[in-house]
Amino acid sequence: MDKTLKISKIKDGTVIDHIAAGKALKVLAILGIDESNSISIGIRVTSEKLAYKDVIKIENKFLEKLELDKIALIANEATISIIKNYEIIEKFKLDMPQVFKGIVKCANQNCITNAGEPVKSEFMTVNADPLTIKCVYCKKEMSGEEIINNI
Ligand SMILES: [Zn+2]
Repeated sequence: MDKTLKISKIKDGTVIDHIAAGKALKVLAILGIDESNSISIGIRVTSEKLAYKDVIKIENKFLEKLELDKIALIANEATISIIKNYEIIEKFKLDMPQVFKGIVKCANQNCITNAGEPVKSEFMTVNADPLTIKCVYCKKEMSGEEIINNI
């Protein structure tokens, strides 16, 4: 018997699958999805790969590079599927970017990127799992909740 939860299929849009259980709402929060998008969310759905996973389906939305990078900061394990006319036309795993520009605010208040200068924040990936990133300007390292709270 098929025990996977059936979430209604979408005609056009994006499916973010294999999100570690409990992270779906954080992913939605950083994407800034509002009521103009129709969204289905499965939380703690049973999965073959993971014991439990979260899944998000967003109708009529196709993610841009910046949005994919934001998801990578929170749920790098996720798989992205692009749906057109009920068919998966593209499916890929997220890459861990080596550089994050203009996404994360540096937690160091004295960093030049927090000084009101026209300097965009920029972080290098130091370690992918668990994720640690380092500010290229002040060398401040950030990980875990500290990253999520500064997106
Ligand atoms: Zn910094």
